[in-house]
Amino acid sequence: MTEERVRPLVTVDLGVVAANTGRLAARTEAALMAVVKADGFGHGAVPVARTALAHGATRLGVATADEALALRGAGLTAPVLSWLNAPQAELTPAVDTGIELAVPSFDHLQAVAAAAHNAGRAALIHLHADVGMARDGAAHADWPRLCGHAAALERTGRIRVIGVMGHLGCADTPDDRHNAGGRDRFDEAVRSARSHGLRPRLRHLAATAAVLNDPAAHHDMVRVGAGLYGIDSTGRAGLQWAMTLTAPVVCVRDVPAGTPVGYGHTWTTDRCTRLALLPLGYGDGLPRAASGRAEVLLNGRRRPVVGRISMDQIVVDAGQHPVQAGDVATVLGPGTSGEPTPADWARWAGTLPHELLTTIGSGHRVARRHRPCTVTHEQPTSPVPHLQESFA
Ligand SMILES: *Cc1c(COP(=O)(O)O)cnc(C)c1O
Repeated sequence: MTEERVRPLVTVDLGVVAANTGRLAARTEAALMAVVKADGFGHGAVPVARTALAHGATRLGVATADEALALRGAGLTAPVLSWLNAPQAELTPAVDTGIELAVPSFDHLQAVAAAAHNAGRAALIHLHADVGMARDGAAHADWPRLCGHAAALERTGRIRVIGVMGHLGCADTPDDRHNAGGRDRFDEAVRSARSHGLRPRLRHLAATAAVLNDPAAHHDMVRVGAGLYGIDSTGRAGLQWAMTLTAPVVCVRDVPAGTPVGYGHTWTTDRCTRLALLPLGYGDGLPRAASGRAEVLLNGRRRPVVGRISMDQIVVDAGQHPVQAGDVATVLGPGTSGEPTPADWARWAGTLPHELLTTIGSGHRVARRHRPCTVTHEQPTSPVPHLQESFA
């Protein structure tokens, strides 16, 4: 009895992650950072990191220092950058294990310098500039002062400024004029850093969308998350979805016309039909907002999810088609057998595939399995070999 007949299952195809990594690497001359924050967008940070590093990525990126330390704990020695921490966070273990830290403010700079003092080694930092989305990164007006303080600290040996980073707010829409503005802001931030005597070797601005859309934004390194997992805002990059979610049918019932289904009776049968129950719901990351629109693949056919999506279960209208307990429905997947994709579910729920994949893959109830990557590639050499020393 295979496991998918017993319980809902997320399967992550690492061969697909490998192929996506290779496709993204082929789109740029820059070094590739694999972004594995939020547990690799729900796909498993460690297996995704290992796969990406074996197929073209040379560095790893995460939001928090805790996420970075978890990668070190799993034995990953590649350079890792963490870009989102409170200045009050305990950063000494990160500096101690060579984790690189983004610095978006003077408070952060002081915190990193203190952690470097505690760790007894220089902190490797990337100064982080806001280039126009007023989110993370230092404000334009604060940048020169931040560079000045960083240069002074670098002269003491406490820190080394190895990078300058920014993040574009509208890269998904290549024609948006804010992209050029963001690139200009970034260039200006780099010039300002240099004028303060800093020599950042890694300038990085682009994430997945700009890798695919905007070669002028690539610089020395690109940070790709979405694309590793198959999220392709251009629809033309040949990326594939790496995650599949299946669920077994646990009950089947035949009902007459006029039978209301689920909480609130939001849907009523208009004919006699067969209903199949799947044991997963919004507690497992299926968005309740997709109620009334969602579909699954059941025994080779797209069938509608009817009534409300509840916390633990959904009802599928199988019509007159044969279905029995133990049959396996594909809730989402690459779409190659006709199943809905994460993009379909995101549309039904009015959200992004990013949110959907992260929520489904990081759920605590659905088991997650990894299909190993069977292709092996030669370890590529880094286009910035002088930085390989940064974690020895
Ligand atoms: C999440 C994130 C990325 C990755 O972006 P994708 O669009 O998923 O490739 C890159 N940089 C920063 C700062 C991020 O927060």
